[in-house]
Amino acid sequence: MIILKLLKHLASLFLLVVILGTSLHSQTFKVLIFSKTEGFRHSSISNGIRAIEQLGQINDFIVDATEDASLFSYDNLKEFKAIIFLSTTGDVLNQNQQDAFERYIRNGGGFIGIHAASDTEYDWPWYGELVGAYFDSHPAIQTATIEIADHIHPSTKHLPEYWQRTDEWYNYNKNPRGQVHVLATLDENSYSGGNMGHDHPIAWMHEFDGGRSWYTGGGHTEASYTEPDFLKHILGGILYASGESSEK
Ligand SMILES: [Zn+2]
Repeated sequence: MIILKLLKHLASLFLLVVILGTSLHSQTFKVLIFSKTEGFRHSSISNGIRAIEQLGQINDFIVDATEDASLFSYDNLKEFKAIIFLSTTGDVLNQNQQDAFERYIRNGGGFIGIHAASDTEYDWPWYGELVGAYFDSHPAIQTATIEIADHIHPSTKHLPEYWQRTDEWYNYNKNPRGQVHVLATLDENSYSGGNMGHDHPIAWMHEFDGGRSWYTGGGHTEASYTEPDFLKHILGGILYASGESSEK
């Protein structure tokens, strides 16, 4: 009888350890940075990877980075809460890899697009819808004013109403408003070379096909990834797309 009681105690202790272990484990999640380029290659990619790795260290998530498209199988992708397309360009995934990524998003996966993520996969309409719009053109790097539209979202709540910063400002092939929730717009009067008029979205998010998508047009320059406000912007996008609401 004593042995049986002891075994019962051991069993409940074991259960407790398993439950605790699971809850501790659930505080940590993984994201994958994908930065393969088939077109223009931004020199800031390595800066972006390092900065996002640091965001992960401070905020308790694990960051993997790859340029190997063959890792795009559903079984690999489902290990990650979100996939970050960091200034990818051109045709980076083949048909099987695209299918795997679509399945990943349909099963609740997250997507974060940074800068040239919109200059990627022009012949894959689903991807164009996931991002929201494709790159069209850009003027020279210059300082511009961004008007913050959403003061609640984790990627923009820390930002002032009018956010001035220097970057390469993209024009897009269409205005994604209507398909996406716009977080911030560029004031085209504050710089030269904008061609989208008074409503020029530059950061947005939406739920799409079962998953979550967040995009920011900034991030061309290496200096972007040392700007605390821009990094917090990206962190908020990662937390949103990953389905993780709390941040430190
Ligand atoms: Zn660029």
